[in-house]
Amino acid sequence: MEIHYWNKEIETADRKTIQAVQLQRLKAMVASALHTPFYKRKLPTVGINSPDDIKSLDDLKKIPLASKEDLRQNYPKGFLAVDTSEVVRIHTSSGTTGIPTVIYLSAADLDAATDIMARSIVATGATRGDVLQNMMSYGLFTGGLCMHYGAERVGLMVIPAAGGNTKRQIQLMKDFGTTVLHITPSYLLHIHSTLGEFGTSVKDLSLKKAFIGAEPHSENTRKKIEELYGIDAYNSYGLSEMNGPGVAFECVYKNDLHLWEDAYILEVIDPKTGDPVPDGQEGEVVLTNLIRHAMPLMRYRTRDRAFVHTDPCPCGRTHRRISRILGRTDDMLIINGVNIFPSQIEEVIMKIPEVGTNYQIYVEKQGSLDKLIVKVELYSKMFLGEAKQIDKLKAKISDELRASITIKPVIELHEPGVLPVFEGKAVRVVDKREKL
Ligand code: ADP
Ligand code: ZN
Repeated sequence: MEIHYWNKEIETADRKTIQAVQLQRLKAMVASALHTPFYKRKLPTVGINSPDDIKSLDDLKKIPLASKEDLRQNYPKGFLAVDTSEVVRIHTSSGTTGIPTVIYLSAADLDAATDIMARSIVATGATRGDVLQNMMSYGLFTGGLCMHYGAERVGLMVIPAAGGNTKRQIQLMKDFGTTVLHITPSYLLHIHSTLGEFGTSVKDLSLKKAFIGAEPHSENTRKKIEELYGIDAYNSYGLSEMNGPGVAFECVYKNDLHLWEDAYILEVIDPKTGDPVPDGQEGEVVLTNLIRHAMPLMRYRTRDRAFVHTDPCPCGRTHRRISRILGRTDDMLIINGVNIFPSQIEEVIMKIPEVGTNYQIYVEKQGSLDKLIVKVELYSKMFLGEAKQIDKLKAKISDELRASITIKPVIELHEPGVLPVFEGKAVRVVDKREKL
């Protein structure tokens, strides 16, 4: 396989070199952090009063963990290290779990973030001559502009399509020969189910790749996308707090995501105790941003669950790979006392061939018990079959789910187009139970 690098030297650097870069950048970040109201309060309490108090990477552990709550409580300027005249851009998170948080970028920060984005794009083999249709929303959300800047830097032709208006999206793909999409996996699946309606088929398109991210999805969802479109789908991970997309990206081997360790220090902790977990074991991803000085953020608890791979990647990159995001630490559902992650449900239903491109998980109270309903869209041809066949399929889905999550959900089967469609991040779980 042909391997392209954006910056071969750092992408293939040995561990010692990467750690040396991390240490030097961490010291610089602590220097910047000491200009923010938040860290001015926090760092002296752990004995850090100057960058010289960081002597080795082990000293990172002294720095207190930071949470989304810290960002919210210190909104809007508690993490700002520079005068706003130095800031060239702000972004916010999409607010999936509450009030959005804000980030600030100086010109140098934006340049560094763009470079990491470019590196991610090149890792997938996308290059000058490719046409990228960026279907993430433009604006405060990082998914639009940050990908846009990175792709321009590599030299791709960028179509800033933003999200929504499926008919126009398909027209753009046809008119400009789009080869690469940047899109949420749920919206990409949805688009496939509408192609016929707009008189198009996959054969009319020139698609080769998709960067899919911004929301959790299973390996079976990726496979489904790849089969439906005949393309390669690369997992793209990022979060606004770490500058948006491009924190970790899959290379051509598509064997989970290289996390760019010269730009972000990766830790995985047990979310309950805060202790580090060994490589290979699932935990909460904690990230230290090493490239954003206008708004330092160190040891940020992402609430995303993943594990670290230890085996090397054949592409030659030495930056460690994290698994796909297995969910958020706060998206666990407790159904009649059983802990269930929505990702477990998705993994099962997406490998059932009759299942179409959309689903939703619904939880409600029935008397004192919780009732779990999994609503699934089928491909339309399924509804031409007999009622008996439909019942058999319901039982099959329900049995397969029980084998994975131990409880038996109620299965509702729907025709395509019935369940709500999301052009940005999908809302997969609707929990109608009263919160205590
Ligand atoms: P919000 O936290 O409001 O959703 P962001 O827009 O910053 O704000 O989204 C970042 C979050 O999106 C990540 O923390 C993660 O939960 C999710 N996410 C981003 N990319 C992926 C991906 N490839 N796989 C799974 N989840 C992802
Ligand atoms: Zn690789």
